[in-house]
Amino acid sequence: MSVIALCLCCCLMGFAKAPKYVFFFIGDGMGLNQVAATQYYLRSCQGELGITPLCFAQFPYTGIATSYSASSDVTDSAAGGTALATGHKTNNGVIGMAADEATPVTSIAEMAHRYGAKVGITTSVTVNHATPASFYAHQRSRNDYYEIGTQLATSGFDFFAGGDLAENVNPHDHAAPQLYDLISEAGYTIVRGYDEYETKAIDADKVLLIQKHGAVENTLPYAIDAREGDLTLTQITTAAIDHLYDKRHKKGFFLMVEGGKIDYACHANDAAAALQETVDFDNAIRLAYEFYKQHPKETLIVISADHETGGFTLGNGSYELRFGALQAQKVSQAGFSRIVNRMRHETKDNVTWEQMKEALKENFGFWDTVQLRERDEQALRNEYERSFTGEKNVKMAESLYYRDEPISALAVRILDRIAMVSWPVGSHTAAYVPIFAIGNGAEQFTGQMDNTDIPKRIAAIAGYDKAK
Ligand SMILES: [Zn+2]
Repeated sequence: MSVIALCLCCCLMGFAKAPKYVFFFIGDGMGLNQVAATQYYLRSCQGELGITPLCFAQFPYTGIATSYSASSDVTDSAAGGTALATGHKTNNGVIGMAADEATPVTSIAEMAHRYGAKVGITTSVTVNHATPASFYAHQRSRNDYYEIGTQLATSGFDFFAGGDLAENVNPHDHAAPQLYDLISEAGYTIVRGYDEYETKAIDADKVLLIQKHGAVENTLPYAIDAREGDLTLTQITTAAIDHLYDKRHKKGFFLMVEGGKIDYACHANDAAAALQETVDFDNAIRLAYEFYKQHPKETLIVISADHETGGFTLGNGSYELRFGALQAQKVSQAGFSRIVNRMRHETKDNVTWEQMKEALKENFGFWDTVQLRERDEQALRNEYERSFTGEKNVKMAESLYYRDEPISALAVRILDRIAMVSWPVGSHTAAYVPIFAIGNGAEQFTGQMDNTDIPKRIAAIAGYDKAK
């Protein structure tokens, strides 16, 4: 067969070149309704009905995925992350191992690394939290943060980023080396904050980018709470692309970006925080989309979620939504809790009702842009009396990741009701999660599939599954 005939044959048989650059975005807890609600919210802020589409929701290929785990129809982030990372179902709580909790299963990041692609694993929560961990670690328990961190050090991947490490010291053996040391010794340059990335990581071989010392939490702040100078998910994504992209590198890169705090906000049933988090996630995806526009034939972008959180419902009985009301909320439930805490401190725990009213007005628009029913005002007043006068009987509002001042949780609940959002649960659900895709191979992400199909398809499209 002549060379021309062979070429023609290859073309006809569809031997298109595999994408060199693969982006996998995971919105933790981002079900279909989290996406829909964000779009209604953006439009509602303009005083209009309908939706303002997010960038990623306009990608040409869409699908839906089931998210059940090997041990439950309702997955946690460990089994959900493992499914999305490795294509294997496992039990809730398990990272990167089969359901026998003994056999390690290989992630697409590990396959990509073997294949010769550069690999980046990033998140807005801690770098050794369940979702990112599923791409590089193999542990029976997602809570073994130290052991997970040691596997980060030995992964050989090129770029990691997130809020911080969830744990630095081995809780069972205080004499064991600290994770920061292990990670440095493994050849990683650890940089704190985006400016330090820009100055200290230019020539670095491998990078771990985390927040500056003194950050409020070991996760990135919620987008709704972020201040100038805080590390953001868009900065992390910018740094990741900057570090991983090298046009001379023939095997390209694989980059996973997790929007981890959509889940946190939904666990707390905090709609305004969840929607801002989804907008923030979309902003990070826009960077990948810009990259795709520069390299359309060589890039694949896939967006999905590990599960839905909160049973987020768009409506609460009457046939309308007022999502625009959520604009009045200036901080997350956790953020307002910190404000309340500061007020307690500054007044030696003698906060007056007038001071509390002022803080609620400033941060939720109550008695200002948001009109309260008498019974809501009474409920706030009663909570104030309970928490700030007499016995100061403060029963903290507990969600998975936060213990909040009850008045903060109540204010969020009232505003969510006014916006006509409802939340049946504070945990995960088995609702469908969405898939959006664009680029080389994106057409394979349509229809109903299982979450385990997503990494299998990515690995096959990019050729990672052929790496020895
Ligand atoms: Zn969760």
